[in-house]
Amino acid sequence: MKIAVMGAMVEEITPLLERFKEYERVEFGGNRFYTLKYKGIDVTIAYSKIGKVNAALTASILINRFGAQKLLFSGVAGAVDETLHIGDLIAADYLVQHDLDITVFGHPYGFVPEGKIFIKSDEQLLQIADKTASSLGLTLKRGIIATGDQFINSHEKKEWIKKTFNANAIEMEGAGVAFVCDALGIPFFILRAISDAADAKAGFDFDEFLQSSSKISADFIIAMLERMA
Ligand code: SAH
Repeated sequence: MKIAVMGAMVEEITPLLERFKEYERVEFGGNRFYTLKYKGIDVTIAYSKIGKVNAALTASILINRFGAQKLLFSGVAGAVDETLHIGDLIAADYLVQHDLDITVFGHPYGFVPEGKIFIKSDEQLLQIADKTASSLGLTLKRGIIATGDQFINSHEKKEWIKKTFNANAIEMEGAGVAFVCDALGIPFFILRAISDAADAKAGFDFDEFLQSSSKISADFIIAMLERMA
């Protein structure tokens, strides 16, 4: 089986590379891809750089060039839901683009013709995640992740995203990955550990917790890979 594990930032994949230690490095399309074998699984790890376009490009390369049959995303996000605190894990049930707006033509937010507003993550991978969480004694929330090309650090903007999409967390890549995987028929799973609350102090919190939350997310992904092996 070939599985891709991607993040957006180098900090998000560093705990994975540190865990696996031995890998080959391949450059393609302006990115670095790390390939290795883990318990019979061919794993390719990469970070895309920030934002939906970068994320979509990397997901496409992981699938079309590296032959990924499943894609797991590991990273950090801002919490919208007040029950989510720094370091908590959330797995996306659905993903949506909060900054996609042609509403002047009568369409809902997040929609373009022939598209969908919400993309559903793979149920089988979500179930593997649930089992992984219970075996580790961890709480894994499921919810809606809203993606856009903006770092959200404002109460008003966050409340608007919450009200419009019923979102639980906000980040900048998930929906890009989801749309690519959905179009190409590749099961995907998007995991985020909370780094900030997308509020006025989000920039400060993000810098403070990027490393620790990236590690929490990456450790969970490694436990999932073990279960899948
Ligand atoms: N400090 C970085 C930029 C981080 S952008 C630099 O200078 O290079 C934030 C990243 O973390 C994105 O990849 C996004 O997916 C995620 N993220 C975490 N909190 C977020 C928030 N409040 N709003 C949007 N994205 C957030």
